[in-house]
Amino acid sequence: KLENATAKAELGRASWKLMHTMMARFPDTPTADDSLALQTYIQLFARLYPCGDCASHFQLLLQEYPPQTSSRNAAAGWACFVHNEVNKRLKKELFDCSKIGDFYDCGCGEDGKDGKK
Ligand code: FAD
Repeated sequence: KLENATAKAELGRASWKLMHTMMARFPDTPTADDSLALQTYIQLFARLYPCGDCASHFQLLLQEYPPQTSSRNAAAGWACFVHNEVNKRLKKELFDCSKIGDFYDCGCGEDGKDGKK
């Protein structure tokens, strides 16, 4: 089947949005189980990502730059960094990762007031 660049780009945008928004809601001080869950999620995401070429490249990136899951900052910074690595390969503009702070808002309002999310 022919490649459909529009669909591929849309899948990419949606996936990055979910990824970065998850990082923005990851606990500041995760439990070992939280960190393991995120590690596992990222590895399975890279394995199951529907664009096969993208998945292969991303798996190599994960080997070179293992996911950082020790805190929200570490996870968000890592995701921003690897997204920039993909941007570089695709010759796209790089994102200033110092500005990632409030950029991704889940829109979930008041839930997580306990500081865990
Ligand atoms: P996207 O890269 O989708 O970014 C969306 C928005 O996120 C940007 O507009 C910007 O506001 C923000 N953003 C940009 N950089 C960052 C950053 N570093 N951190 C946080 N936010 C940022 N496409 C291919 O053609 N070949 C591939 O091999 C390929 N591999 C991919 C691998 C993965 C894991 C994913 C999720 C996507 C991949 N894609 C690939 C898709 C590609 O990365 C883009 O999503 C797609 O080309 C659409 O690009 P875009 O310019 O709309 O911006």
